[in-house]
Amino acid sequence: MYSTNILRSIRNDLPLHFILKQLDELAPCSKTIEGFLRFQCPHCHELRATINPKNNLAHCFCCQRNINNIDLMIELGYDFKQAVSILENWLHQYHTGKVRRTENIFLQEMAKTKTNAT
Ligand SMILES: [Zn+2]
Repeated sequence: MYSTNILRSIRNDLPLHFILKQLDELAPCSKTIEGFLRFQCPHCHELRATINPKNNLAHCFCCQRNINNIDLMIELGYDFKQAVSILENWLHQYHTGKVRRTENIFLQEMAKTKTNAT
């Protein structure tokens, strides 16, 4: 359904820190430590997932797992299709600086679900 090119582009060309910025309040806690952006690992919940800008993967120094863009979105509760569709929009935004109209639909739904749950 999705071309390998799109998936590769999402994994490699869309920086994880851009995604954390876009996720805003839905993003896991993050902190810059010694110049590296660290965020709360979706697997073990320690603030030790550190972004490696060279391969655009986060590595958790606690549970030793690697996290890519798509993994992160799935851990936040999106399914694969939603994750790819959101990331595709952000990739477009990252490259062009323009927001697509469909952007944030899933995010808004997600925020609503979160509010209802609390
Ligand atoms: Zn971890």
